[in-house]
Amino acid sequence: MPILTRAARLAGVIGWPVAYSRSPRLFGFWLARYGIDGTYVALPVAPGDLATALRGLAAAGFAGVNVTLPHKEGAFALADEVDEVARAAGSANTLVFRRGRIQAFSTDGAGFIANLRAHGVDPPPGPALLLGAGGAARAVGAALTGLGVTVSICNRTPERAAALAGAIPGSRVLAWGERSLALASHALVVNTTTLGMIGQPPLDLDLSYAAPGLVVTDLVYVPLETPLIAAARAAGLVTVGGLGMLLQQAVPGFAAWFGVTPEVDEEVCRFVADGLPAQ
Ligand code: NAP
Repeated sequence: MPILTRAARLAGVIGWPVAYSRSPRLFGFWLARYGIDGTYVALPVAPGDLATALRGLAAAGFAGVNVTLPHKEGAFALADEVDEVARAAGSANTLVFRRGRIQAFSTDGAGFIANLRAHGVDPPPGPALLLGAGGAARAVGAALTGLGVTVSICNRTPERAAALAGAIPGSRVLAWGERSLALASHALVVNTTTLGMIGQPPLDLDLSYAAPGLVVTDLVYVPLETPLIAAARAAGLVTVGGLGMLLQQAVPGFAAWFGVTPEVDEEVCRFVADGLPAQ
């Protein structure tokens, strides 16, 4: 790691807990690759301390921070300026501190689309079936709709699906129990639930209903190959895992704080994946 000078640029990731975050490893890799005088650290900030932490970091000279659970909505609410995507999402994952002001951006949706493109899925096929209705579903749904893809929302809690549908123009709600059957009438399915993550039950989805050529994507990246992705691959479907989205959503923050647009390639994927369970 290069020795930092007094001019070193500072950034980090705020979350609670944050120790599991792969972002310091990712940013550390890019900082070393581009020989940048800067650092990026994990910043555990308890619920209730977000406003104090953000003002303090900005005052102490940080260039900005990424924001992860449970602070994405709080960061949006505390920002002085928000971009259109963050406003649509009602949350922010990337903050830039500039001239005493906090600028908020939401990069998850663009990261999802960039990851599809990196896997040769371009443009995103539709209609798309979103499984889940949390913050990630909102970001992905808005990004797909922005590209003209029609979205169906299928979530365990129907009230949350209906609330999300109200925020995504042209979308419709399907009952959670319809999710397998619905695969026959969609070209893209996106798991935005936490199901399939290590420690969580797998997503119960019957891929025998899949339309020919269905693209199966999973936002979960721990394990790297979720049971859903493994089953879809075995069924000969096109698959896109979640790790690439994590890398892609980080690009705008790195560019804003450190002045270089970093490349997402095989080498950085391998480095960030190292140590994560494969299955
Ligand atoms: P969230 O807001 O907490 O939403 C969680 C979603 O999972 C909700 O729709 C919830 O349904 C559903 N869910 C949880 N347990 C379930 C169960 N047992 N059965 C059915 N549905 C269940 O979380 P989020 O921020 O949207 O994140 C969702 C996932 O995306 C996480 O795994 C996160 O790590 C991943 N993610 C990945 C990236 C990336 O870069 N790859 C970026 C963002 C998020 P209910 O509404 O019914 O509770």
